[in-house]
This record gives sequence, structure tokens and C-alpha cells, in this order.
Amino acid sequence: MAHPLPPGHAPQGYACPLCALARGSPLSDGLSAHSDIVLSGEKAVAAISAYQWPNNPGNVIVFPIAHHENLYSIPADLAPAIHSVAQAVALAMKAAWQCDGVSTRQHNEPAGNQDVWHYHLHVTPRFKGDNFYGTLTTGKHLMAQAQRAAYTIQLRHHLNPNHADA
Ligand SMILES: [Zn+2]
Repeated sequence: MAHPLPPGHAPQGYACPLCALARGSPLSDGLSAHSDIVLSGEKAVAAISAYQWPNNPGNVIVFPIAHHENLYSIPADLAPAIHSVAQAVALAMKAAWQCDGVSTRQHNEPAGNQDVWHYHLHVTPRFKGDNFYGTLTTGKHLMAQAQRAAYTIQLRHHLNPNHADA
């Protein structure tokens, strides 16, 4: 039996920063920049996130170009594109930074730590003993645009063009 979708949390007239980022429109949030884009697929985009964590620099968000607020409402047929972009980014992280592992996280609703109302999947480089989850709350910080752009360039350099066909 189908349940009604839970109500969304985006305020009326929400100026969505990820829609702007995906479409190359002017960014209203003052956080992200077009130089953050790592990969632009047909249906999904990857970008270095404005917020980063101290022991895991280079956190990327992967999101659909089409606006969908969260896991509850995103069409399942976008999943392959998101997965394909996330996979390409994870492999580029391994090649660029020799990280020991990669974690993905995806948040829904305020109680689930969502604060941008456009579905996005975090892809995070992991290192042995990095205490990533111990720094999640206290270590979250804005990274300067120029520094983010350097991470973007490193990942782009290691993207396999045959892989990122989303
Ligand atoms: Zn959006």
C-alpha cells in the first residue's frame, strides 16, 4: 500500500543553491562556487562541498540536476546516474589522494542532519585512524574557495573519462 510522501522542509520560494550550481546560474548562498564542480554528467553533478572536515579534506557532494528534496521523493530512475558519478569520484579520490577508504552519507530532514533541501550524497575520503565521525559536529568548517578549487582540479585530473558516463 502506498503511503503519502512526508512533507518537505524547503521554505516557500526556496532559492536552491544546488539547482544554481548544477545549471551554472548565479549562486545565492554565497557558499558554493562554480569552480567546485568536479564532474557534470547528463543527470547528476559532483562538486567539492563548501563545508569540510579537518581530517578528510576533499569531501564531495553528488546530486541530481533535477530538483528533488530528499530520498523520499527522488525518482528511483536517477539512482544509476548518482551511483555512477559517486563511483567515479570515489575512484578518483583513491587515485588522487591515496585515501585508505571512502564513505558515503546521505541525510534527510532536519533530524537527519539535512540542511540543503536538494538531495545530495556525501562522498568522503577516509584515512586510517582519521576519527571522521568524531569530528562530524565539532570539526565542520567552511573551506576557502581557492582551496576547494585546488581539490577540484586534483580530482578532475584523476577522473576516468570512460567511467563517468552518468
Ligand atoms: Zn535544487
